[in-house]
Amino acid sequence: MASINVNCACGNQFVTEEPTADSGFTVECPTCGARIRIKPPGISHKQFKAATAPSAEERIANRIRKYETISGILWLIIGAVQLVLVWTAAAGVWNIINAIMRLRSVKSIYAGNV
Ligand SMILES: [Zn+2]
Repeated sequence: MASINVNCACGNQFVTEEPTADSGFTVECPTCGARIRIKPPGISHKQFKAATAPSAEERIANRIRKYETISGILWLIIGAVQLVLVWTAAAGVWNIINAIMRLRSVKSIYAGNV
Protein backbone atom coordinates (compact mmCIF):
# COMPACT_ATOMS: atom_id res chain seq x y z
CA MET A 1 0.00 0.00 0.00
CA ALA A 2 1.46 3.28 -1.10
CA SER A 3 0.96 6.52 0.73
CA ILE A 4 -0.45 9.54 -1.02
CA ASN A 5 -0.53 13.25 -0.34
CA VAL A 6 -4.00 14.70 -0.08
CA ASN A 7 -5.04 18.34 -0.17
CA CYS A 8 -8.39 18.89 1.51
CA ALA A 9 -10.74 21.76 0.69
CA CYS A 10 -10.42 22.82 4.37
CA GLY A 11 -6.76 23.69 3.71
CA ASN A 12 -5.38 20.67 5.51
CA GLN A 13 -2.73 18.61 3.76
CA PHE A 14 -2.20 15.06 4.96
CA VAL A 15 -0.57 11.80 4.00
CA THR A 16 -2.69 8.68 3.96
CA GLU A 17 -2.81 5.20 2.51
CA GLU A 18 -4.09 4.87 -1.02
CA PRO A 19 -7.83 4.33 -0.92
CA THR A 20 -9.29 1.07 -2.17
CA ALA A 21 -12.46 0.15 -4.05
CA ASP A 22 -13.98 -1.03 -0.74
CA SER A 23 -14.15 2.55 0.52
CA GLY A 24 -15.30 3.78 -2.91
CA PHE A 25 -11.82 5.32 -3.32
CA THR A 26 -12.45 7.86 -0.61
CA VAL A 27 -10.10 9.04 2.13
CA GLU A 28 -11.14 10.90 5.25
CA CYS A 29 -9.60 14.23 6.20
CA PRO A 30 -8.35 13.93 9.83
CA THR A 31 -9.00 17.66 10.42
CA CYS A 32 -12.53 18.25 9.15
CA GLY A 33 -13.69 14.66 8.57
CA ALA A 34 -14.65 15.32 4.96
CA ARG A 35 -14.53 12.35 2.61
CA ILE A 36 -12.44 13.02 -0.48
CA ARG A 37 -12.61 10.82 -3.57
CA ILE A 38 -9.20 10.06 -5.06
CA LYS A 39 -8.17 7.90 -7.99
CA PRO A 40 -4.97 6.08 -6.99
CA PRO A 41 -2.29 6.10 -9.70
CA GLY A 42 -2.35 2.30 -10.04
CA ILE A 43 -6.09 2.16 -10.68
CA SER A 44 -7.40 2.44 -14.22
CA HIS A 45 -10.10 4.95 -15.07
CA LYS A 46 -12.49 2.09 -15.81
CA GLN A 47 -11.93 0.44 -12.41
CA PHE A 48 -12.32 3.79 -10.67
CA LYS A 49 -15.58 4.55 -12.49
CA ALA A 50 -17.00 1.10 -11.71
CA ALA A 51 -16.29 1.53 -7.99
CA THR A 52 -17.59 5.07 -7.77
CA ALA A 53 -20.63 4.78 -10.05
CA PRO A 54 -23.86 5.58 -8.23
CA SER A 55 -25.87 2.51 -7.26
CA ALA A 56 -29.35 1.82 -8.61
CA GLU A 57 -30.87 3.11 -5.36
CA GLU A 58 -28.82 6.26 -5.57
CA ARG A 59 -29.96 6.82 -9.15
CA ILE A 60 -33.60 6.33 -8.14
CA ALA A 61 -33.14 8.71 -5.21
CA ASN A 62 -31.60 11.26 -7.58
CA ARG A 63 -34.51 10.89 -9.99
CA ILE A 64 -37.05 11.33 -7.18
CA ARG A 65 -35.14 14.36 -5.91
CA LYS A 66 -35.19 15.87 -9.39
CA TYR A 67 -38.92 15.12 -9.78
CA GLU A 68 -39.67 16.63 -6.37
CA THR A 69 -37.70 19.75 -7.28
CA ILE A 70 -39.54 20.17 -10.58
CA SER A 71 -42.98 19.62 -9.02
CA GLY A 72 -42.05 22.03 -6.21
CA ILE A 73 -41.18 24.72 -8.75
CA LEU A 74 -44.42 24.02 -10.65
CA TRP A 75 -46.47 24.42 -7.47
CA LEU A 76 -44.68 27.70 -6.82
CA ILE A 77 -45.63 28.94 -10.31
CA ILE A 78 -49.24 27.75 -9.88
CA GLY A 79 -49.40 29.47 -6.51
CA ALA A 80 -48.02 32.70 -7.99
CA VAL A 81 -50.58 32.57 -10.83
CA GLN A 82 -53.37 31.97 -8.30
CA LEU A 83 -52.17 34.93 -6.25
CA VAL A 84 -52.32 37.12 -9.37
CA LEU A 85 -55.81 35.78 -10.15
CA VAL A 86 -57.02 36.50 -6.60
CA TRP A 87 -55.49 39.95 -6.84
CA THR A 88 -57.24 40.51 -10.19
CA ALA A 89 -60.52 39.18 -8.73
CA ALA A 90 -60.24 41.57 -5.78
CA ALA A 91 -59.58 44.46 -8.16
CA GLY A 92 -62.55 43.28 -10.28
CA VAL A 93 -64.88 43.33 -7.26
CA TRP A 94 -63.73 46.84 -6.43
CA ASN A 95 -64.33 47.93 -10.07
CA ILE A 96 -67.91 46.57 -9.91
CA ILE A 97 -68.60 48.42 -6.64
CA ASN A 98 -67.15 51.56 -8.20
CA ALA A 99 -69.31 51.10 -11.31
CA ILE A 100 -72.50 50.62 -9.24
CA MET A 101 -71.72 53.74 -7.23
CA ARG A 102 -71.17 55.74 -10.43
CA LEU A 103 -74.39 54.40 -12.00
CA ARG A 104 -76.31 55.35 -8.86
CA SER A 105 -74.93 58.85 -8.88
CA VAL A 106 -75.97 59.21 -12.53
CA LYS A 107 -79.64 59.27 -11.36
CA SER A 108 -78.98 62.25 -9.12
CA ILE A 109 -77.47 64.25 -11.96
CA TYR A 110 -80.12 66.51 -13.41
CA ALA A 111 -80.35 70.08 -14.53
CA GLY A 112 -79.85 72.45 -11.68
CA ASN A 113 -78.12 69.87 -9.48
CA VAL A 114 -74.72 69.83 -11.24
ZN1 LIG B 1 -10.38 18.76 5.64
